[in-house]
Amino acid sequence: MAIPRDTIEHIRQKAAIEDIIKRYVPTLAKKGKNYVGLCPFHKEKTPSFTVSPDKQMFYCFGCHEGGNVFTFISKVEHVDFVESVKIVGEIVGIPVRDDVKPQNDEYSKLLKINELICKSYRKALRMPANRHALDYLLNRGVTEQSIDEFELGYAPDEWRYATDILKNMNISLDMAVKTGNINKVIKSDTTHYYDRFRNRVIFPIYDQKNEIIGFGGRIIEQGEPKYLNSPESTVFQKRNILYGLNKSRQHIAELGRAIVVEGYLDVIGVYQAGIHNVVAPLGTALTLEQLQLLSRICNEVIIVFDADSAGIKASLRSLDVAENLNIDIRIAQLPQLDPFDFVAKFGVREFMAIIDKASQPVDFRIERIIAENKGKQVDILKQVFTVLRDIPSEVQRQHYFKKLATIFQVTEQAIRTDYERFTKGQKTSGGAIVTGNTALDFYAKSQRELVLLLCNYPELVEHALVDCSLSQFTDTVAKNIYQAIIDLFEKNEPITLDKMFDFFPEGMEAQLLTQGFSKQFAFEDPKIAYSEIILNMRLYTIDKKINEFAEKIKKDKQDNIQYYMTELEVLRREREKLASYIYNKGSAKI
Ligand SMILES: [Zn+2]
Repeated sequence: MAIPRDTIEHIRQKAAIEDIIKRYVPTLAKKGKNYVGLCPFHKEKTPSFTVSPDKQMFYCFGCHEGGNVFTFISKVEHVDFVESVKIVGEIVGIPVRDDVKPQNDEYSKLLKINELICKSYRKALRMPANRHALDYLLNRGVTEQSIDEFELGYAPDEWRYATDILKNMNISLDMAVKTGNINKVIKSDTTHYYDRFRNRVIFPIYDQKNEIIGFGGRIIEQGEPKYLNSPESTVFQKRNILYGLNKSRQHIAELGRAIVVEGYLDVIGVYQAGIHNVVAPLGTALTLEQLQLLSRICNEVIIVFDADSAGIKASLRSLDVAENLNIDIRIAQLPQLDPFDFVAKFGVREFMAIIDKASQPVDFRIERIIAENKGKQVDILKQVFTVLRDIPSEVQRQHYFKKLATIFQVTEQAIRTDYERFTKGQKTSGGAIVTGNTALDFYAKSQRELVLLLCNYPELVEHALVDCSLSQFTDTVAKNIYQAIIDLFEKNEPITLDKMFDFFPEGMEAQLLTQGFSKQFAFEDPKIAYSEIILNMRLYTIDKKINEFAEKIKKDKQDNIQYYMTELEVLRREREKLASYIYNKGSAKI
C-alpha cells in the first residue's frame, strides 16, 4: 500500500459509511439499526442492499457484493484501492497527495522501450520487402482500419532488427532485455543481444491505461510455436491482462456484458464486424484475476469458443475459476469455424444469435457429458449427478431432474431415487460450511471459520495466538487473513472485520470476509464457538499424526517400532480426551 496506514485510518474514522454510500444510493433509508436501499450493483425492485453503521460495512443480499467504505468506492467507481482511499479522502476533506505513489523510473522506461519496438514493427509491416506479412493479414480478412487501430506490425526474419534500432537510438540494451522482447547471451566473454520475435505478425498488448506492456507474435509460415508472447516481466503479467480490454472497456461497461473469445485475431475480427465488447485471455484459459477484472465492469460474461475440443476444455476450466464470483457466466459454442471466420462468413446477426443462446454453465456441462458418452446412460447419470450435487439451490436441482427425466424418458421419481442413492454413497463432510465451495476439506473450513470468528470477536485474538500458530494453517486464504490479524495485533491496532478489506480489497480473501458479514456472525457465547473450532483443528492434526505413525510402523518393522508404538499410544489418548471434550460441547477451558 502506497498510502501510509495512519492516513487511511484517519480517513476511515472521519468517513461515515452510510453518508458516503447515500451519495450513490439515494434510496438508502434507515431501517432499525441498519440502512437499506436499492443495490447499485444489480437491478432490483425491492431493496436488499444493506449498510451497517455499527460495522461500517455494506452487503447486498441480492448479489452478495459487500465490503467496507473503500471497497464500495472501488466497486462503484471502478478504481483500485489506492484510488478509492483518495476519493473517500476528498469527500471527508483529508486530501491524499498524489505523489505518495513512488515514481517508478524503470517501469516507465520499459514502457517507453516497448513503444519504440512497437513503432519499429509497424514500420516493418509497411516495407515492400515484407509485403508477404501485410498480404497475410489482408488475405486473412483483417481490414486496413483494424491494422491501424490495433497497431499490428511485423517482426522481420532477422536476428537484430529491433535490437539495432534501439541501439542506434542509444537505448540501453540491458534495459531492453528487461522488457523480455530483446534476448541476451554471453558467448566466449562477448555479450550478444538479439530479437525475441522473428518472422512473426505482431499484436501489441496494452494495459488499461493504453500502455504497451507486451507483444503477441503469430508465425506466418509453418512452424512452432504458432503464437509466441512476451515473457512475464515487471510490466507484463498475463494473468491480469485481457487482450482488447483497452478498447472494449467502455463498451463492456455500457452493455453490462463481455464477450470472451480465444485469440487475438478473434478479437479483431469480432471488433471490426462492429461488436465492440470483446476481449481474449492471452493464450490461456481465463484466470480468476481476469474474471474479477470483468466482474467489476459488467455482470455477464459470455465465453465463446471454437468448435474444437481444446477450446471447450479451456472454457470448462474457466467455469471452475468463476464459481466463486458474483458474475453470470455463459458458454456459447460455435457450430463451426473460429469467431473471426464465423463472423466474416455468416455475419453479425448469426453470431449474436449464438451469443444470445449461450448456455448456463450447468446446462453446458450436462450437454457435454451427454455428447461425450453417447448412449451410455449409467455413465451419463453418474457424471451429471456429480455436477448436480454441487448446485447450491434445491429448486434448480429439481429443474434438472425434470430435464433428465425428459431426456431419458423415465419418471422424475426414478431420476430422484438414483440421485439419492448416488449421493448416499458419497461421503459428506461435517461441520458448518463457511463457504459454498464443496471442494474445501473440513480442516480448511475450520481455519476459515476461525479467522472470521476472530475478525468478529477480536477479543479472542490473544487466545488464538497461543493456541494456533501460522504454520498450522494449510488453507492459503485463511492463512493470509490470519497473517493480517497478527500484523494488526502486533502493531496494537484495533481489529475489525471492515478493516480487513483494506488488506484484501478483492480476491478469495475478500469473498470470505464478505461472508463473515452476510452470515451476521452472532454467537451467544463466541468463546464456545472458538474452543470448538480449535479443538476440531487439534483433532485433525492429531489424526494426521496418527496416520503418519501408523504408516511408519508398517514400513519400519524392526528398529524404531517400540518408540512409534509409544508415540501412537500417547496420541490416541490425547485424541480420546479431545473427542470427549468436543462431544460434551465445548466444555474445554480457554
Ligand atoms: Zn446487489
